[in-house]
Amino acid sequence: MTRIVVLGSTNMDLVAYVEKAPQRGETVTGREFRTIPGGKGANQAIAAARAGAGVAMIGAVGNDSFGTRLRSTLEDSRVDTGLLRTAEGPSGTAHIVVDDEGGNAIVVVPGANGTVDHLTPADDHLVASADALLLQLEIPLRAVVAGARAARAHRVRTILTPAPVQPLPPDLLAAVDLLVPNEHEAAALTGRTDPREAALALLDQVPEVVVTLGAAGSLYAARGAEPLTVPAPRVSAVDTTGAGDTFVGALAVALGEGRPVREALTWAAAAAALSVQREGASASMPYRSEIEARYTA
Ligand code: AMP
Repeated sequence: MTRIVVLGSTNMDLVAYVEKAPQRGETVTGREFRTIPGGKGANQAIAAARAGAGVAMIGAVGNDSFGTRLRSTLEDSRVDTGLLRTAEGPSGTAHIVVDDEGGNAIVVVPGANGTVDHLTPADDHLVASADALLLQLEIPLRAVVAGARAARAHRVRTILTPAPVQPLPPDLLAAVDLLVPNEHEAAALTGRTDPREAALALLDQVPEVVVTLGAAGSLYAARGAEPLTVPAPRVSAVDTTGAGDTFVGALAVALGEGRPVREALTWAAAAAALSVQREGASASMPYRSEIEARYTA
């Protein structure tokens, strides 16, 4: 079984659905409220576990009721939480207002995620045992760099999702094997709006890049090879939240199993297409049997 370690965030999304978002000083009555477990780290961990890998998550939840639920949500998808710390204070939260036009405004409070600023010897040991380490940017950058370096030292494949997008220090990129931005992140990192040009520019810093293109699929580029575009299945999307994390989780599993790149990208696209046809982020992520049923080479 492919072994994947995720070093990253857990968040409770607190979502209020309103007709129109309030202005400063205004109070409005919402229609509905939901608490949805998320965080890019946790979402990728759940995606990879459901896709069939043995997954362990390094990070932190708070010592509040959200923390208890975030941990149990991971465990429900068989993610190993042995090295998921419980920090003093609140869990990470995302306070989201969604209006009737589908627009949203979000405040993220990192909470416990902000305490994940180094790797312990046990974390390092766990990384060493993995086939791949999945990283995102919702925990302090110092820990992301430490994780990437540990993976490089142990010859473990490092896959970075550069979200939320921010300038990436060269010492981080130097330890990344595969960078997976969406097209907006790729443009923000390179100043090039054409995904192919952006991908080629990123190859100056990392050996392999996958730019995800929403309903248009994904674009793969590697040094010394012609870029490859892999389409996404045509489906009617109801909620694309978490599609990128589903894609990355499934891609890591397929690459870990030694599948060729085109096949791995097609498999990941099948997983992400299943997730966009259902509501929710981690709740919508497909299990391996569903991916296999949807996958056509
Ligand atoms: P994105 O983060 O929007 O680039 O989406 C990540 C991945 O999810 C894409 O590469 C697709 O494989 C999949 N995806 C996103 N939106 C759709 C859609 N509307 N239909 C099918 N697949 C999608």
